[in-house]
Amino acid sequence: MPCEAKPRFVVLYGSQKGQAESIAEGIADEAEEHGLVAELSCLNQNEKYNLEKEKDPVVFIVSTTGDGEPPDNALQFVKSIKKKTPDHYKHLCYALLALGDTNYANFCNCGKTIERSLRELGAKQFYATGYADDGVGLEVVLDPWIEGLWKAINGALSKMASDRTDYSNAGAGDLIMETPDSSIPDVQLNLLRITDQKDCGSTGASVSKCATAASASAVSDLRPAVFPSQPLGTASVSAAVPHVTLAASLTHSLPPLSESSLNVPALPPPYLDVTLKEADTVQQIVGPSNKETLHEVPISRALQLTRGDSVKTSLLLELDLSAHPNLTYQPGDSFDVFCPNKDSEVEEMLHRLGLYEQRNHSVHISLLKDTKKKGAQVPAHVPLNISLLYLLTWCLEIRSVPKKAFVRALVEHTEGGVQRRRLQELCSKQGSADYNLHVRDQSLCLMELLSAFTSCSPPLSLLIEHLPKLQPRPYSAASSWLRYPGRLHFVFNVVEFPACIARPAGRRGLCTGWLFDLVHPVPVFQEKAAWPQIHVSLRPNSLFRPPSDQSVPFIMIGPGTGVAPFIGFLQQREMERKENPDAMCGETWLFFGCRHRDRDYLFREELEGFVSSGALSHLKVCFSRDDPEEEEEEAPPRYVQHNLLRNRKHVTDILLKQKGFLYVCGDAKNMAKDVNDALLEAIRAELQVDQLDAMKTVALLREEKRYLQDIWG
Ligand code: FAD
Repeated sequence: MPCEAKPRFVVLYGSQKGQAESIAEGIADEAEEHGLVAELSCLNQNEKYNLEKEKDPVVFIVSTTGDGEPPDNALQFVKSIKKKTPDHYKHLCYALLALGDTNYANFCNCGKTIERSLRELGAKQFYATGYADDGVGLEVVLDPWIEGLWKAINGALSKMASDRTDYSNAGAGDLIMETPDSSIPDVQLNLLRITDQKDCGSTGASVSKCATAASASAVSDLRPAVFPSQPLGTASVSAAVPHVTLAASLTHSLPPLSESSLNVPALPPPYLDVTLKEADTVQQIVGPSNKETLHEVPISRALQLTRGDSVKTSLLLELDLSAHPNLTYQPGDSFDVFCPNKDSEVEEMLHRLGLYEQRNHSVHISLLKDTKKKGAQVPAHVPLNISLLYLLTWCLEIRSVPKKAFVRALVEHTEGGVQRRRLQELCSKQGSADYNLHVRDQSLCLMELLSAFTSCSPPLSLLIEHLPKLQPRPYSAASSWLRYPGRLHFVFNVVEFPACIARPAGRRGLCTGWLFDLVHPVPVFQEKAAWPQIHVSLRPNSLFRPPSDQSVPFIMIGPGTGVAPFIGFLQQREMERKENPDAMCGETWLFFGCRHRDRDYLFREELEGFVSSGALSHLKVCFSRDDPEEEEEEAPPRYVQHNLLRNRKHVTDILLKQKGFLYVCGDAKNMAKDVNDALLEAIRAELQVDQLDAMKTVALLREEKRYLQDIWG
């Protein structure tokens, strides 16, 4: 396509799980509407772009993974820019969107690293960096950032064109800087004509004068059919519209949203051509497709660690690795469990798509010849020659929360003004809060959305385009090879998604629910032949290991199932002490927390045993929901960070004087941040320094790899 008339810019992404990639793709797709051409590449495709010679604006979209690491496909780039000399990129004009999660300590670290390097190399920023936080919802920053980007790119393009001749001499004062707030575009895009529902796919802008009528019909059309009963306490009655319950819900909106003109994102261009063919020869693959690289291992033991009346159900499973001599592990390693989607949900989806009868047909996927999608590719996670049933069972994360781009695409396959309008609202800028409340925060999946939006009939190709790859779930090893040769233990909470209107029965987490069903009722296995088999692969974590020198003291913090790796650490320590009883051992501390002493004190006997054997010097346990004992003068600590503060002298002594280690593991929700804050406070109080110095001390601990986290969200 001839595109020389349109100004161009470059979009580069580094993405671990596909979020940054899909945002980058969205920007590239939307570019055309703004009269621009975007050249999209992954950071590791360095044959496709050339920053050394780049004369147009460059937009970086990068996520952060692990403990502040770059995504795999940005690693090389990050390494290479660190080696370049000053002024290397003084010709470059860039904007950067960093994705991260404030539940983790090194928020947006990869984006920050790239930005620092670019600046050091003389590159000029033309638009303020966005730091989007998955912890509170990427949209909060993402939407305004993208909205302002277009004006900023156009500004940068004109400035670069006018400066072209003497651009290389430009100093820092020439920065072209827009902030998302100051750069609200002059033109409102995609304003939707509410009365003309079929027009929503177009980019024509028109503000409806009939919005009220549309929203009134929205109320009466939909509610009785979809939600015959309204949850108690949410209903109110409007004088204007009698007999109609007025509570916003997934399928129903209230003014002002229902009366607003909407900024609906551009329709993601379709790019896949999918056909189903009747074939006797479809290879009936069973289990995950990459089996050659996985290990199929039996579950040899299952143990429920929590009492029946506990809020959470925690299970310990033991895997028998004896048939896999190469499959050994160290304490601190984790491993991936490959689980399928639930049979009943796959079946329901097949029925909903009207494809149940074709479930054994083979799936053929190719690129649409005339697709407008930049860098379109057939998804690599869909193997060749598979059946439709297999595709939905093992390849696509059908439980994932549909992103706004997916909701936008669903609009095109939805009949009926009301349902269509509501989907438009949910993906629009104005409906962001409703999307967060009714879709994202409820972790709604596609099937739940389709159950509510009965007139929506997406084609299979849309699911393949928008549903991410079904990911394995990692679990931390909760045992030591020395203590259990050929065996591996892991511990997990069965995730429970509570019921909501769109999910009346609630549901369990995909993998934890599947594992629970495999071993239920526990304990199950007497006959070895009947042991359930699962597919796993190892994820070594060479950093998160107990110190190899036994004389080095260390502190472990792991509430709930976060204690898992530390059980492995302590089993290892116990075995090493048995083998070498005269070795000098450093102190070991464990800060552990659970809700109730009686109901969910995981590994109680084993932990107390470690104390008796001397493998654990100090066990500090707190119970967040137990009432304090009457005779206690001081309120007992409720959370691990409170216990850490109470023992701050020992903690700082071990870390700062004895050069010990601190390990933190567990569910990311606030815990890692709270522990980090408590550590700062402990250092401040013990060393009598200010916050900045405390932060520097903590940063140094991290740099020296003596403050290590293994956090999952
Ligand atoms: P999914 O179906 O994937 O659902 C989980 C998702 O739903 C999460 O994103 C969560 O934010 C969200 N969610 C959870 N509960 C609710 C709710 N009530 N309402 C709405 N949304 C909700 N887990 C362990 O238990 N033990 C371990 O040792 C362990 N080790 C890990 C090690 C690493 C390196 C990593 C990255 C993760 C680890 N995890 C561990 C987490 C584990 O991998 C899974 O994420 C977890 O078990 C849930 O998987 P699932 O498929 O059952 O849940």
